[in-house]
Amino acid sequence: MEHDLIIVGGGPVGLALAAALAPLGRSIAVVERQGRAALADPAEDGRYIALTHRSIAFLQQVGAWDRIDPASRAPLREAQVLNGQSPFALGFDPGSGGAQWLGQLVSNHLIRRALFEVVATHPNVTLLTDVAVQGVATDRAAARVTLANGQVLTARLLVGADSRFSKVREALGIGAQVKRLGKSMVLARVAHDGDHRATATEWFQHGHTIAMLPLNGRHSSAVLTVEDDEVSRISALSPEELGAEITRRYGNRLGAMQVEAGPHVYPLAVTYAAHFAATRAALVGDAAVGMHPVTAHGFNLGLQGVATLAGLIGKAGAAADWGNSLLLRRFEAAHRLATRPIYTATNLLVGLYADDSLPARLVRHATLRAGARLPLARRAVARMLMQP
Ligand SMILES: Cc1cc2nc3c(=O)[nH]c(=O)nc-3n(C[C@H](O)[C@H](O)[C@H](O)COP(=O)(O)OP(=O)(O)OC[C@H]3O[C@@H](n4cnc5c(N)ncnc54)[C@H](O)[C@@H]3O)c2cc1C
Repeated sequence: MEHDLIIVGGGPVGLALAAALAPLGRSIAVVERQGRAALADPAEDGRYIALTHRSIAFLQQVGAWDRIDPASRAPLREAQVLNGQSPFALGFDPGSGGAQWLGQLVSNHLIRRALFEVVATHPNVTLLTDVAVQGVATDRAAARVTLANGQVLTARLLVGADSRFSKVREALGIGAQVKRLGKSMVLARVAHDGDHRATATEWFQHGHTIAMLPLNGRHSSAVLTVEDDEVSRISALSPEELGAEITRRYGNRLGAMQVEAGPHVYPLAVTYAAHFAATRAALVGDAAVGMHPVTAHGFNLGLQGVATLAGLIGKAGAAADWGNSLLLRRFEAAHRLATRPIYTATNLLVGLYADDSLPARLVRHATLRAGARLPLARRAVARMLMQP
């Protein structure tokens, strides 16, 4: 066997898995279709990831957190949900447990760069870049991965971390729920005069949604959710016009917005794999669970899956067969339990808030009013945000 583990996909979750397992000293290959330079110094992609306390602890453990400049981490102290013009806001804060913040917002490209730097320090990890995976086959003895350049790799375990439209998942014959939502997220970093007080806002309005994520200083990441047929109009706006559009959609709450970066557009699709494990293979990250970004859990759950798989492998011992079926079945069961409820709850929330019929608007209003009066429920959601 050439390798003990082949990871397909050098995105943040694939790299996190390599970083977590590399200290065990076994041979790991990461296959990524992007070039090495794009991994070593990724371009800004507009995404700010709200990292939970648990994710930060994981990144600290693998040595990635300290590689992210503290000045570029933005603490998220509170979150609030608004519904149309309703005066009721549902607020979440860290509560009285001693935590100062719900999470920290960090640009996705900085997380990826930090994880790449960690992986690059491990001589037992081989990075094969600029090459896509074309096919995979597994049997009880081994996993075989065929690359687009004709090279064939073999290992005891294959892990697919190759996005929500995973080629590995498909080649393994694992089905998935795939729901394209007909909407897209348009992201732009903005500057403004108003103080956001480190509070994230999710504002569901008639026909569209806007989220404002607080960055350091008087800066925010604006996230517009719009129908797909509106994307080309918004993308074609000049920075001044886009700033005015965001100001208007946000009801001028933070004053006039100046666009500093973006827009970046992400079509919305949610996915959930029918299985997270197969013979000598497992799925992690978006290849396993492609969350709707509204609850900011995709990467956090991806790291949780990585921690679960790496924990089981660590427990089995460096010398064990990493692809043994009992270990993979345990991973599947644990990760399904960790992800299914939050995936289902997020999709229900999205369905409720995407529906502009009068009954749905009334239910939203009632939910916010009830939520505002139920501190226990609010605290449970805040705990969930802090430690999914
Ligand atoms: C707008 C937006 C905001 C978000 N905000 C948050 C947030 O606040 N909190 C949070 O936790 N999550 C958030 N997420 C989700 C998070 O970004 C994803 O969950 C995360 O990027 C998934 O990482 P991944 O490595 O699994 O997949 P990806 O990032 O998709 O990486 C997959 C990698 O595999 C490579 N690849 C694909 N196919 C092949 C192939 N055939 N051969 C070789 N390589 C291949 C790709 O090039 C890529 O590098 C957000 C997502 C979006 C879109």
